[in-house]
Amino acid sequence: YTLRKSCLMSTFIALPAFNDNYIWLLVDEQRQQVAAVDPGDAKPVITWLGRNPEYSLSHILITHHHPDHVGGINALKAGTECKVWGPEAEAIPGRDRALNDGDTLTLFGLTLEVIAVPGHTLGHIAYFCDNAGDPWLLSGDTLFAGGCGRLFEGTAEQMHHSLSRLAALPDNTRIYCAHEYTQSNLRFARAVEPDNTDIKIRLEVVDDLRAAGRMTLPTDLALEKRTNPFLRFDCDAVTQAASQQTGATVAPGVETLAAIRAWKDRF
Ligand code: ZN
Ligand code: FE
Repeated sequence: YTLRKSCLMSTFIALPAFNDNYIWLLVDEQRQQVAAVDPGDAKPVITWLGRNPEYSLSHILITHHHPDHVGGINALKAGTECKVWGPEAEAIPGRDRALNDGDTLTLFGLTLEVIAVPGHTLGHIAYFCDNAGDPWLLSGDTLFAGGCGRLFEGTAEQMHHSLSRLAALPDNTRIYCAHEYTQSNLRFARAVEPDNTDIKIRLEVVDDLRAAGRMTLPTDLALEKRTNPFLRFDCDAVTQAASQQTGATVAPGVETLAAIRAWKDRF
């Protein structure tokens, strides 16, 4: 398991699950407690706890209701004392605390802010922590490295609003998303913007990481703004590519986002 340590207080461990999910563990070394984010499967968490018996699972944080994010809750709750936090607007098994946009949470001495990010699902939430100037975001299936979640329940308007809110976070925000989709996302990004050097270079780095079996996360917001077409819906190159693809003039913003999301769905 790869250890990712933020400069200051927060340590995250990635537990791979299924084909391409990550269950992030937020680790509090002082309290010897961990919080699991979107445990779609209990096994990787139980295995980690078994190998680190001094640690206990105190919380489960849920971003949205899809089975690959909530499937492990019941088994983990049965074997631990953990509390389950998740969006109020969705059916989350075993939920102890129902969260809404703007809620402020305290976890391991950190302050977390709940941001409603409808689009992938209607009740999807993200968790943001300023972490004393070393901020991080748990973005679930809303903002991926190089991409964004499919519009299963929400509209392009909602996703545009959600991604715009995330884009307004500090540039140095570290982003922990729930899937290893970076390589295929960047191949699409390259198709949208063949002349974008940042995308080209990033794809080379990601190709090397994946060839070595390594993960490509976390990412950060500054890099996403330069390379993720789903944050670049106001850029001329992206709007032009969207227009070419749809055969009509597409406006910047939500129209461009809708066009490239539909394009990615069939890419
Ligand atoms: Zn999902
Ligand atoms: Fe998912």
